[in-house]
Amino acid sequence: MNQISRREFLKMGASLAAMIGLGPLYAPALAEGLQEIVYGRVRILWLQGQSCTGCSVSLLDSASPGPVSLVTRYMSLAFHATLSAAQGQVAMDMIYQLVQKPGYVLIFEGAVPMGMPRASLVNDKPLEELLLPAVQNAGVVIAVGTCATYGGMPAAEGNPTGAASLRKFMEAKRLNTGNLLAVPNCPAPPESLVGSLAYYLKLGMPPKDPQFHRPTMFYSRSVHAECPRYHYYQNSQFASDFGDEHNCLFKLGCLGPISFSDCPRRQWNDRTNWCVRANSPCISCSSEYFCALKDVPFFRKGEAYRALKKTVNKSTESKSQGE
Ligand code: SF4
Ligand code: SF4
Repeated sequence: MNQISRREFLKMGASLAAMIGLGPLYAPALAEGLQEIVYGRVRILWLQGQSCTGCSVSLLDSASPGPVSLVTRYMSLAFHATLSAAQGQVAMDMIYQLVQKPGYVLIFEGAVPMGMPRASLVNDKPLEELLLPAVQNAGVVIAVGTCATYGGMPAAEGNPTGAASLRKFMEAKRLNTGNLLAVPNCPAPPESLVGSLAYYLKLGMPPKDPQFHRPTMFYSRSVHAECPRYHYYQNSQFASDFGDEHNCLFKLGCLGPISFSDCPRRQWNDRTNWCVRANSPCISCSSEYFCALKDVPFFRKGEAYRALKKTVNKSTESKSQGE
């Protein structure tokens, strides 16, 4: 493994601190957290449920150079279904050995098929059989991506598997969600995952919202509030065609007002671009409304977002009453 100098770690820590909005005083602590991740001092178990592996790809197929891409390239994973060389019984033995020593970091990607346990199998057994002890013995549990945070695409209206978020799984098993952190978006941004983990390792559990357990440093402000086109919205200057490089995309279906994520600040692919800057309305991939309803196009009339919110809330309520 190539060595990364302390100076480089400090630069990464400073870059993360700036992104999180914590200021330079936090840079050394975050640098130490990153060092622990990189040099394998922390045991990380990465399990997948109903997922497309997009969050793994987002984390590991990062462009270089860049602080997060460096960290992700060297990050030490005790087990990852797609990346680990170990297969079959060898892999299972490795996982069970890890799970028997509490205190590791569990990263979970995808939804849990709670209504159809055999829809997701590990070693020919329902995922739940492994997930339960893995969650119980973890020091921190990170739900990565929109599927693990809310259910996401696998939980879309009409799905037959009863796909649910990791939080719902934990609540159903009466597990304490105090050590749960959720990092949504489809896919999850590498900076938010690595930043949350580095923060947790050195500074403890980051502040999070009580309902979905999302770290507030990344998910407390709406895309709309931080959007560089916000002043066009305020002046009612709306784009009427896709490709408009200047006006607000609200009337083309932008769901920035109901999406809580730091996309305008962080951007994607090492800050190359993000949805609105690419003239695409935000499709709310960070929210519980993403893909919740069938037969709803990604690009909806902006004015209809309240109706969408109402319908999803209603359908969530009736689902939970039926539970
Ligand atoms: S483009 Fe979307 S996020 Fe930006 S100001 Fe308009 S509605 Fe808000
Ligand atoms: S701007 Fe919206 S659709 Fe784009 S990544 Fe952010 S939350 Fe997802």
